[in-house]
Amino acid sequence: MEFRNLIWIFPLLASVGLGTPDERLVEVTPENVPGVVLDLRYATTNNLTGKALYPEAKAYLRMETIRKLRRVARELEEEGYRLVIWDAWRPASAQRALWQAKPDGKFLTPPSKISRHRRGTSVDVSLADKNGKILPMPSGFDEFNAKADEDFSDVPKEAAHRARILRRAMFSAGFSGVPDEWWHYDLRDWVDYEPIEEKEIGIRR
Ligand SMILES: [Zn+2]
Repeated sequence: MEFRNLIWIFPLLASVGLGTPDERLVEVTPENVPGVVLDLRYATTNNLTGKALYPEAKAYLRMETIRKLRRVARELEEEGYRLVIWDAWRPASAQRALWQAKPDGKFLTPPSKISRHRRGTSVDVSLADKNGKILPMPSGFDEFNAKADEDFSDVPKEAAHRARILRRAMFSAGFSGVPDEWWHYDLRDWVDYEPIEEKEIGIRR
């Protein structure tokens, strides 16, 4: 960690405590999204960088995003599923690390642009069964190939079926999707939200 980063982290820890986010971000928990399964891959080495990018396995989003996810979780529960979160608010430092590992503008936002994930309005999701076991889907997380796109003719039928259940629940709650990643969703009015920087949350670099 560079010294200039410590300068703001120490007063932050003293005043508000580790991990306390900017007030515009709210931690996602089973209390506000019932049944949610947090599988925050960027808090582990199980991601495309091979490094843990977050100090804690905590997901933060705008309250409006959480409200909509609550509706998604309820709808999924009725169908015997639970919502999995792979990533939520993403600081610029994580975006840079991802870009270094995979500098491909087709799949990732270059560091020169603001990722939708930095606004707290975007979320990467998947499905688990009612016991929290993560289910096979059309592709792995951040598996950037044809299996990840909307054309599910090249993946097992069961996986395609689950991705469609997830999509229907996300769309009916007010999210929009993207063609190349079945797991990525945004608030439809994401562009109206400001990005939120990591210095306000105390994330590890
Ligand atoms: Zn995403």
